[in-house]
Amino acid sequence: MIKILVAVKRVLDFNLRVRLKPDGSGVDLANAKMSMNPFDEIAVEEAIRLKEKGVAGECVAVSIGPLANQETLRTALALGMDRGILITTDEEWEPLNVAKILKKTVEKESPQLVILGKQSIDGDHNQTGQMLAEILNWPQATCVSELKWQEEECLLTREIDTGLEVLAVKPPFIMTVDLRLNQPRYATLPNIMRAKQKPLSIEPLLNLNNSLTPRIKRLKVEPPPPRNSVKMLKTVEELVRHLKQEAKVI
Ligand code: AMP
Repeated sequence: MIKILVAVKRVLDFNLRVRLKPDGSGVDLANAKMSMNPFDEIAVEEAIRLKEKGVAGECVAVSIGPLANQETLRTALALGMDRGILITTDEEWEPLNVAKILKKTVEKESPQLVILGKQSIDGDHNQTGQMLAEILNWPQATCVSELKWQEEECLLTREIDTGLEVLAVKPPFIMTVDLRLNQPRYATLPNIMRAKQKPLSIEPLLNLNNSLTPRIKRLKVEPPPPRNSVKMLKTVEELVRHLKQEAKVI
């Protein structure tokens, strides 16, 4: 049986309206509801399914961020992961540094499969999995929408412009997951209670890595321009008049 490591990021809940800091330096997270990155929920679900099928033995979730990320890891444990690792840092690291930190955990934990979301919905980078594969020198399959585990290798389907692409990869490998891979389950109350007893280790970032260098500087974040108000038209004649006289597009 294989061991699976899943990277879970804590992000602003996807239902919330984003509020920016007045100085434009970033998103205001004060008192905002935070949740597990939705693609990482899919990653967790896939790991648990592989465990239920007898493919995976231990499933470990890892998160990098402040102490509050314990909550995200407890959610992963309530969903069925066996163990959590929190690497604490108050810095917001760019993907290459996140990949470097994850590499250390991979070297320590020796999983045969590392699953990440295809992107985090706050940074929208879509980089960490690819960079981790590169620095580990492991094969990778990105944006996976279907997975079939066979004896020796794993068949992974990706939705690409020309149709469906199927890759065969032997472990160890990196996989980033797309929306259609599965429908994540909800954590039941008994499992939420049980998750409190599952092991969650907290490790300071400095012990793991001291070669992290920020190479990108965020200059500012701006809100999108406000949308024009909607005008409801009742008839086709009104629409034609509007397109001619006000919008001036015909
Ligand atoms: P990104 O490259 O930032 O779009 O993130 C892609 C994936 O990398 C996410 O879906 C997570 O699986 C993982 N990841 C990114 N940042 C973190 C973090 N701080 N902690 C744990 N996993 C992360």
